[in-house]
Amino acid sequence: MNCIFCKIIKKEIPCNLLYEDESCFVFLDIKPITKGHTLVVPKKHSENLLDIEEKDVLHCMNLIKKLGPKIMKAMKADGFNVGQNNFSAAGQTVMHTHFHIIPRYKNDGLKNWQNKDTSADALLQAEKEIKKALRVP
Ligand code: AMP
Ligand code: ZN
Repeated sequence: MNCIFCKIIKKEIPCNLLYEDESCFVFLDIKPITKGHTLVVPKKHSENLLDIEEKDVLHCMNLIKKLGPKIMKAMKADGFNVGQNNFSAAGQTVMHTHFHIIPRYKNDGLKNWQNKDTSADALLQAEKEIKKALRVP
């Protein structure tokens, strides 16, 4: 399989490795959004949140909880975002499930997500459509 993260995990391609355990690889993003931008990557290949095993999600989340504050402290950051993109429309460029830890700095110039006003009707419509989908197993 021609997956860059699988190659990194197999150590065929170098990376700035921060932490490794039996099921996870944690390394610096090669094109950091901010200083200390880190990727938490399950060793077992999956494409996105649809096919990743539940135990891998739990393990990644626990690692993010443990490592996030330490990365923030090491980088003297003021906060951090956790991100995870699914499908190219959402910005996924590497099709191997991964989580981003992005340290944030006061005045780092990054725009936070922009909320938009909407109507009660539009919210109700979305509520109905999602609830209908939630009933499907
Ligand atoms: P995403 O857009 O969520 O798929 O994120 C993929 C991330 O992987 C991007 O932030 C890239 O900069 C990063 N990336 C791609 N190739 C490498 C690599 N060889 N080493 C480290 N990070 C990489
Ligand atoms: Zn892979």
